[in-house]
Amino acid sequence: MPVPERVLMSMQQHVGAPCTPVVSKGDTVLVGQLIGDSDKEVSAPIHSSVSGKVAGIVELTMPGGAKVQAVEIHADGEQRVHPDIKPPVINNKADLVAAVRASGLVGLGGAGFPTHVKFALYNNAEIDTLIINGAECEPYITADYRECMENSWDILNGILVTAEHFGVKRTIVMIENNKPKAIEELKRICASVASEGKGSIKVKSIPAMYPQGAEKVMVEQATGRRIPPGKLPSDVGCVVMNITSTAFVSRYLKDGMPLVSRRMTIDGSGVANPGNLRVPLGTPIQDVIKACGGYTGETKKILMGGPMMGLTVMDENMPVLKQNNAILVLAGDEAEISRESACIRCGRCISVCPMQLSPTAISLAYRAGDAEEIARKNVACCIECGCCSYICPAKRPLTQTMRLAKAAVRKAGVK
Ligand code: SF4
Ligand code: SF4
Repeated sequence: MPVPERVLMSMQQHVGAPCTPVVSKGDTVLVGQLIGDSDKEVSAPIHSSVSGKVAGIVELTMPGGAKVQAVEIHADGEQRVHPDIKPPVINNKADLVAAVRASGLVGLGGAGFPTHVKFALYNNAEIDTLIINGAECEPYITADYRECMENSWDILNGILVTAEHFGVKRTIVMIENNKPKAIEELKRICASVASEGKGSIKVKSIPAMYPQGAEKVMVEQATGRRIPPGKLPSDVGCVVMNITSTAFVSRYLKDGMPLVSRRMTIDGSGVANPGNLRVPLGTPIQDVIKACGGYTGETKKILMGGPMMGLTVMDENMPVLKQNNAILVLAGDEAEISRESACIRCGRCISVCPMQLSPTAISLAYRAGDAEEIARKNVACCIECGCCSYICPAKRPLTQTMRLAKAAVRKAGVK
């Protein structure tokens, strides 16, 4: 999309500690320049997506309600690149981890977990399988699909770098079977590597069924290994990387440009020309929608992310974040707001839960204020996929209740 007139760079675009601005009002900044960083282990630096002038450090309310600092930059439209941008020199694993940190990369599939933490933490675990998550299972979203079609060699090179870092011989690329062209393309290029004896890369077609992309579901689909409650993929010998994040690693090693833009899907009946755009980070959502022809009519809801896990946006000025893979503009029947009624004990929420939880029982325990009972029912395993809310005929806000129940357990300090 065209360079926006201004960007709002949130200091919280990742899981972990927020960054602190390292620029001040009036500073001139260039594309790729560091503008926010943190000395905490779990965090990721933020870089300017435009060249221009810092208009100020402002407070930003995130979709979840948290208040964070943001650097407001007025773009000059010239997109001058910072002179320090050059490919990193990698001589060993520590260099690679440092480079991935410097790139500001986080899980681009929506998770937002800093990739360098994954590279550093899992390095000593006994990993035998690298799983590349290309499922992109939420309806509407096709950003990872376009990555497969347009940048398949970046994906392959990213796989080779990542597999070498973790010392794994087996890589499984997981793609839903509603993307046959992506499967064909990746099979084609991965076959060329196999013939050169660079390890085994298997492209696996999986049923198009939500929530295939959830990490725990994906590990079981790929390897048959089940991750116990409270454990990580590394505990069963796996590391999972989003497919677009993997491609980004390859590009960063080639050109040294940090994460300053991303491809995202703009879709829904409320937008005139839906499509995938490359968007500078920090661009206000209203500018992105304008670049897609604007609104079609009465907009009922704007979501950051997909219809199952996306968050409702209260303000069109909300900026695009690193982990945003989609903006959905819902109008008409797409955004009907249903009225909640009493639970009819049908059990559908239990039957669809991919984590084998009982959302209705957790909901009861939450309403009773019983944090110990909530914890006993393993609410920590909830991946907030939204399946229970979607299926519930009584339209009960079960996923929202799961989030509140988790917070209640944390607040009560129950282990
Ligand atoms: S959101 Fe609902 S269906 Fe999804 S994991 Fe949590 S309890 Fe289960
Ligand atoms: S799906 Fe809804 S109505 Fe059915 S048991 Fe679960 S909470 Fe109750």
